[in-house]
Amino acid sequence: MRILKKATDLRKALPRKKSIAFVPTMGALHAGHMALIKAAADSHDLVVASIFVNPTQFNERSDLQKYPRTPKEDAALLKAHGCDFLYLPDVADVYPDGMKKNAAKNIDFGPLTATMEGANRPGHFDGVAQVVSRLLEIVEPDTLVLGQKDYQQVAVIRAMIQRLDLLVRVLVVPTVREFDGLAMSSRNKLLNTDERAAAAMINRQLAAVVAGLAAGWPTQPLEQMALSALGEHDLLDPEYVQIFDGDTLLPYLDGDNVRELVVATAVRCGDVRLIDNRIVDLPNP
Ligand code: AMP
Repeated sequence: MRILKKATDLRKALPRKKSIAFVPTMGALHAGHMALIKAAADSHDLVVASIFVNPTQFNERSDLQKYPRTPKEDAALLKAHGCDFLYLPDVADVYPDGMKKNAAKNIDFGPLTATMEGANRPGHFDGVAQVVSRLLEIVEPDTLVLGQKDYQQVAVIRAMIQRLDLLVRVLVVPTVREFDGLAMSSRNKLLNTDERAAAAMINRQLAAVVAGLAAGWPTQPLEQMALSALGEHDLLDPEYVQIFDGDTLLPYLDGDNVRELVVATAVRCGDVRLIDNRIVDLPNP
């Protein structure tokens, strides 16, 4: 695996006649990220990963400062899982004209960013669209590989690709979980032992909502039950538990005709903010 710190060097190094899958990350890599690398390697000639903790998508300074950074371990994991190129830039290489320059600046994501993380983290998705559009400009992959763990991020990036007329496919990989169901996340490294044990409840409550929906229960009491159950735990402070139309990302109203439903949550666990979601299998019409 080659590690390149400069976009110009990466572009020179990438052979253009091979199919390229690109996996952007913020590092502190785990088995969830490796599932993306594997999916990329299984279907392409070359895998490019990036590790860049993008300042423009953090709406809390402390979250940016304490974001875990483990570049040596990350490089070893990537190499062991079949990554070919690691782009490991600094801020100046990603944003040579400053952090204000943003190819995705004028995109209005409308309802796609009005709920979930968009409603709770002002400016977050503008930063995500900015960095992903810039990374796509550098790497020019055939396929961009993303995790379902960040469900709204996938919707926003798909919309950005469409609005900017970019020629790149999107491949979405299901969420990889710990033994007790907690979605793997770089931020899990910041939890102490008690918080880590408590965090397992997040997925259990999402599963309860999914089961309730499958049994035909109405939406609102299910959301409320999960919210209360999480809120009763001393170490958990849920921001939302809500069921959405998976395409519009608008809150689902019972009886709406939808292709896919998703139940999503954000929960503060100590100082750490965790997100998770589950797609609901709808019976065939
Ligand atoms: P991050 O480093 O958190 O920005 O994540 C980089 C990519 O890995 C994103 O596309 C995430 O959705 C994906 N990802 C993060 N955690 C998981 C997980 N537990 N399972 C699958 N994909 C994940």
